[in-house]
Amino acid sequence: MMIIMNPEATPEQIEHVVERVEGAGAKAHLSRGEEITVIGAVGDREHVARLGLEGSPGVDAVVPILKPYKLASGQLRHGEPTVLDIAGRRIGGPHFALIAGPCTVESRDQTLACARGMRDCGATMFRGGAYKPRTSPYAFQGLGQEGLRLLAEAKDVSGLPVVTEVMDARDLPAILEVADVLQIGARNMQNYPLLAEAGRSGRPVLLKRGLSATLEELLMAAEYILKEGNEAVILCERGIRTFETAYRFTLDLMAIPVLKELTHLPVIVDPSHAAGRRALVEPLSLAAAAAGADGLIVEVHPEPEEAICDGPQALELSGFASYVERVGQAAAVAGKALAAV
Ligand code: PEP
Ligand code: MN
Repeated sequence: MMIIMNPEATPEQIEHVVERVEGAGAKAHLSRGEEITVIGAVGDREHVARLGLEGSPGVDAVVPILKPYKLASGQLRHGEPTVLDIAGRRIGGPHFALIAGPCTVESRDQTLACARGMRDCGATMFRGGAYKPRTSPYAFQGLGQEGLRLLAEAKDVSGLPVVTEVMDARDLPAILEVADVLQIGARNMQNYPLLAEAGRSGRPVLLKRGLSATLEELLMAAEYILKEGNEAVILCERGIRTFETAYRFTLDLMAIPVLKELTHLPVIVDPSHAAGRRALVEPLSLAAAAAGADGLIVEVHPEPEEAICDGPQALELSGFASYVERVGQAAAVAGKALAAV
């Protein structure tokens, strides 16, 4: 259920409704918009309905949330988009974020060169994996703890917030020392205990769509994070499996406007993993930005031919500044601004 407060509702009235909802055994999730506050009551619908909150002071209306995902639903925020502030960088609404960096933290030189480059070119955040989900168990799995240490250094030298993947909840305490955003990869989109743990950490989460997940499944996965009281979730379309074999994955650009209809959460696109090859990354980036994505996460490498992981899809650091400029123009088409801070 969703309890919509009057624009004039006082903090005491809001608090009173929260107490009554929780007293009925449901969890109250407060969502403060520009104008109004909405309280999402998640729990036994009958119990909440029986409270008769319609007549309570400060309450405008009590309505059911129609979708199976409640807190992710656009209805909860009356169509108002969520804007997240990640260490001073905003994403959502009119704010377009460009998250860029290598697939994997490979060495100190590679990581720091890339981080400085991203800062100089005006990227919003720095990405880099210390723990990598690899198809083959024999492939390089990432530097682990040492990778996290290098990411901390990259953050220091660039001043950019760090986005890095968590695959195992046991690594979370160490990852939380450096990550401004926890990435949950496509292969873990339905790892529900991991989603809940990331939710409980309170750290913003970048949640990638599974290789064969529907948008509803993606939103239900986001719900696991939101349910823990963590409101900072960024959804990421990164390509899905289809019958097409001419490229690695099919980038589902339709997911952008459709997710925008369904949810208030920011939606970004990963053109790199969808494409699997460099030449496709820029056209897909421009299309995603023009279609209204709230940002991109893209792989860049100072020497792609030397990369241990995902070299063929990595953009060259040397051409990145002009790429950023064109992405900024495409974002402007959709009414969004790419701003470093
Ligand atoms: C990544 O971003 O490095 C990655 C492995 O992505 P995905 O989970 O989308 O495959
Ligand atoms: Mn990669």
